[in-house]
Amino acid sequence: MRTDTICVQSGWKPKKGEPRVLPIYQSTTFKYDNTEEMGRLFDLEDSGYFYTRLQNPTNDCVAAKIAELEGGVAAILTSSGQAANFYAIANICQAGDHIVCSSTLYGGTFNLCAATIKKLGIACTFVDPDAAEEELEQAFLPNTKAVLGESVANPALVVLDIEKFARLAHKHGCPLIIDNTFPTPINCRPFAWGADIVTHSTTKYMDGHAMAVGGCVVDSGNFDWDAWKEKFPGLTTPDETYHGIVYTEKFGKLAYITKMTAQLMRDLGSIPSPMNAFLLNVGLETLALRVPRHCSNAQKAAEFLAAHEKVEFVNFAGLPGDKYYDLAKKYMPKGTCGVISFGLKGGREEAVRFMDSLKLAQIVTHVADARTCVLHPASHTHRQMNDEQLREAGVTPGMIRFSVGIEDPQDIIEDLEQALAQV
Ligand SMILES: *Cc1c(COP(=O)(O)O)cnc(C)c1O
Repeated sequence: MRTDTICVQSGWKPKKGEPRVLPIYQSTTFKYDNTEEMGRLFDLEDSGYFYTRLQNPTNDCVAAKIAELEGGVAAILTSSGQAANFYAIANICQAGDHIVCSSTLYGGTFNLCAATIKKLGIACTFVDPDAAEEELEQAFLPNTKAVLGESVANPALVVLDIEKFARLAHKHGCPLIIDNTFPTPINCRPFAWGADIVTHSTTKYMDGHAMAVGGCVVDSGNFDWDAWKEKFPGLTTPDETYHGIVYTEKFGKLAYITKMTAQLMRDLGSIPSPMNAFLLNVGLETLALRVPRHCSNAQKAAEFLAAHEKVEFVNFAGLPGDKYYDLAKKYMPKGTCGVISFGLKGGREEAVRFMDSLKLAQIVTHVADARTCVLHPASHTHRQMNDEQLREAGVTPGMIRFSVGIEDPQDIIEDLEQALAQV
């Protein structure tokens, strides 16, 4: 099936007499006929549902659809994008390990890597995503276990050179984890360029209607954990909490996601409710229709802003002359996403006056849904960063993050125009 068809048809495949629409299995638990049957599930000897914290049929159908969209072998839904990125790291890192991260990250992911995993004993080196390979090379240590970046960074809109990062990661025996939230698999397929794991905040375009917070981790099945056995003992040596099974031996290409289900979901439990998975699936059905509209509306808004005398800069890789125009043409030729960041002449004060004058675009802590919205990263999502950290994350104090919706583009432009007149 092609992408647009996968969005609509994949996941739930009803048998005779079953509901056409994905059912919401709003049940914590599942019934078995005898003690032995259920015991085998606990040993991972049989596969089957027994408790929704580990697996649920509604959640699994939606995860399968996202795996297919990304071209991966398996996926798992999480209760948020934050949980997805944490799990993607924690599944292969433990105290004493180290990761390499692009410095242009979503604010929450920056905190996760700079502060929270550090408390768990996992160190992180942030690198400039545009640096040359020789310079990036220096960030790697013998205990480096993963490399993390965003295909299109939120909110800096830096387009990552995925092949460059994949080459470096693989040279050092590390999987490349790509947060593909902004372009979605409609616009970018990181696995085709060498990424090994993809994460999503499904809260954004995938849901698309700002209804449910959620996340997803997808495995390409391509990383050869056994080739780097000593680096990844969690996958390649016996798990005593599951009667000594070795994930790579028993599950092959499904090892990484199976371990995540069996250990991280079991012990940390960041599952989405089946109801939220159902809502996400409704969003996914129209993803291939919505994303191109977000992109073409954003292109028009970016062109309008770039030509406006009060606008100092516009970051949008769809603009010829944008620093990331060429990388975007390579990795996401159909467009990047519907998010633009820009700054007004002046700075912070002008940004605030402009934002407070917008009528159609509303101030919300959110991006990437059907309704145009706006946010000021320096005083909202990146508020906890100092000026240097802001600069490294590609955020300036006056930067405005403008998330273009799927309304009539002329109404969006007229709103920008009247708010700019107030500055
Ligand atoms: C929003 C976002 C996250 C965090 O996702 P939540 O669903 O809000 O937890 C992670 N990465 C990117 C790129 C995001 O935009």
